[in-house]
Amino acid sequence: MNAKTPENYERYVAGLFAREDEALLSARADTTAGGLPEIAVSATEGKLLYVLARLARPRRILEIGTLGGYSAICLARALPPGGRMISLELDPHHAEVARGNLLRAGFGDRVEIRVGPALESLAAMSGEEPFDLVFIDADKDGYVDYLRASLPLLRSGGLLLGDNTLPDAVLDEAGDSGTKRYNAAAAASPELESILVPVFRRDGLDGLLVSVKR
Ligand code: SAH
Ligand code: MG
Repeated sequence: MNAKTPENYERYVAGLFAREDEALLSARADTTAGGLPEIAVSATEGKLLYVLARLARPRRILEIGTLGGYSAICLARALPPGGRMISLELDPHHAEVARGNLLRAGFGDRVEIRVGPALESLAAMSGEEPFDLVFIDADKDGYVDYLRASLPLLRSGGLLLGDNTLPDAVLDEAGDSGTKRYNAAAAASPELESILVPVFRRDGLDGLLVSVKR
């Protein structure tokens, strides 16, 4: 029997339900080749994002933290024709790699990447049409600010997803991390109903905080 490790579970679940196709494989390969860190969602978490987005039927998606566009492709695949996604990214090189990957995946016209500090981009978005789905996955210390800034942009009944929300710090009562603070803020928010879902990664266990806005 294989050891009961997250990576072995990841391999099993991915083999059944989350085989990466050409677009996802080349997005991952290009991200690495471009010198970007290998911190995109795993194949199984990407599929989870896609299935959740299918259920939410979003016309407008907001992503915070693009990297090479892997998770953006997973989410954009749930958009209906005419749907639109905006992804916020600080690093112009990351944005450039992501644009190439999104173009190749067929989303060149439907996904817009806005370059700059996400908090500034969010502040400039107050007049925009509300979003049906928000995915937070940028710098972890910014999560609580991103929650505060993006919640008014999410429609009532909309889906809010927070990645990397099961950091080691949750195992230590005194432990601190940006995503642990995000979990606490979401739990305390009267506007949200939430549950933290464990996800497998090649290097261990992590979490996706799934929240619905009242
Ligand atoms: N969602 C991606 C992974 C994102 S990694 C995926 O799963 O495929 C986190 C990204 O957030 C990095 O590309 C990093 O450059 C970006 N980032 C870091 N600080 C940021 C900030 N202040 N504003 C916007 N993006 C930021
Ligand atoms: Mg992440």
